Amino acid sequence: MATADSLQARIDALKQEHRRLFGDAGTIQVFNAPGRINIIGEHTDYNGGYVLPAAIDISILAAATLRNDRQLHLKSQNFPDKVAALLDGLTFSEQRSWANFPLSAAWALEKHGIRLPGADIVFQGDIPLGSGLSSSAAIEVLMMKTMLALAGRTIDKTLIPVYCREGENGFIGVKSGIMDQFIITFGRENNALFLNCETLEHRLIPFCNADTAAVIVGNTKVKRELAKSAYNQRVEECAEGLRILRSRIGRNDIPSLSGIDREEFDRCRSSLPDLIARRCEHVIYENERVIKAVDALEKGDLKTLGKLLVASHTSLKELYEVSCRELDCMVEAFLQSGDVYGARMTGAGFGGSAIALAKADGAADVIKNAQKVYEERTGINGEFYICRIADGARELSV
Ligand code: ADP
Ligand code: MG
Repeated sequence: MATADSLQARIDALKQEHRRLFGDAGTIQVFNAPGRINIIGEHTDYNGGYVLPAAIDISILAAATLRNDRQLHLKSQNFPDKVAALLDGLTFSEQRSWANFPLSAAWALEKHGIRLPGADIVFQGDIPLGSGLSSSAAIEVLMMKTMLALAGRTIDKTLIPVYCREGENGFIGVKSGIMDQFIITFGRENNALFLNCETLEHRLIPFCNADTAAVIVGNTKVKRELAKSAYNQRVEECAEGLRILRSRIGRNDIPSLSGIDREEFDRCRSSLPDLIARRCEHVIYENERVIKAVDALEKGDLKTLGKLLVASHTSLKELYEVSCRELDCMVEAFLQSGDVYGARMTGAGFGGSAIALAKADGAADVIKNAQKVYEERTGINGEFYICRIADGARELSV
């Protein structure tokens, strides 16, 4: 989607916008952070489990200059309002709407004793907002990279997603896991990232040589209003499951649901209330699917990988209950094509996007059919694109 030419055009337009808004404010530095898909391992990250995401070729850019005070002046070309905030005593504020996400990253750095300078920053993104491709984590990581560079500070690379997550949990109030910020920091072109969210051990897995397979994103264009509360509710349900299982197994030191293997869980399942049991079953079996998916990917066995994607979707729909009618329609529309290995919702769910893994030379027809079927069933003109697997967040030399 994003060619080198279109990236350069976006950069030039953004620098021009920065000059228009802030005048000739010195050297403009430009940073880029990608969106992401998650191939498999959904709702496992905040349960200390495995995930297999990849960064993609849509992104948010930031053009930034230093100020000589402690004010942040933020503008996004995707929103009408310009926001000013003082770095001292930063708190979440409804009035600041979109800007709470980048501000959460500044808040987290200051909380860790990294004193930041003021800055004038303009953002521009082509990650559709609220589409499950993690524009929120992209702007957090982007802001953190930008502020560290302006401050002339470096921190251990692993601390970037760790601090961004603290910002999302403590400043925004979403009890999210670390997957999104991690892949946006560590993504690598043509690679997926196999991450253990408990230990943060991670390994790149070559993925999707465009000659053999294509990843298609299908945006349902629906966003559930209750997504934030339903998400936090799942986090609570898993915590409840862990409490009961720890006591049943007689080991209080089990760090997370992912510390319980499938046999142990199957033995204890009946001691859990049914709803909690279904949530836990999803997490524990999904972890196994991630391990199998990594194995399949390493063997180039896309058929097995495809089956795992479908099993993951079914589990998210039936056990974890985070899918919705439109996501199910999108996945079913993809699966009608013989050229599709597998498909599933990607990201937290309740709307957003699904992905399909397809034969490269059949991808255009897969999209044509899915577009038609999805519109017939939902009345919505879905958005589709074939994504490339891209690098993580970085400063661009411009
Ligand atoms: P997603 O699924 O894309 O992560 P979220 O609802 O979690 O959706 O996050 C979307 C929020 O992220 C927006 O409301 C805004 O606050 C912030 N955001 C994302 N992209 C941009 C952008 N280009 N400019 C400004 N803010 C952005
Ligand atoms: Mg988000």
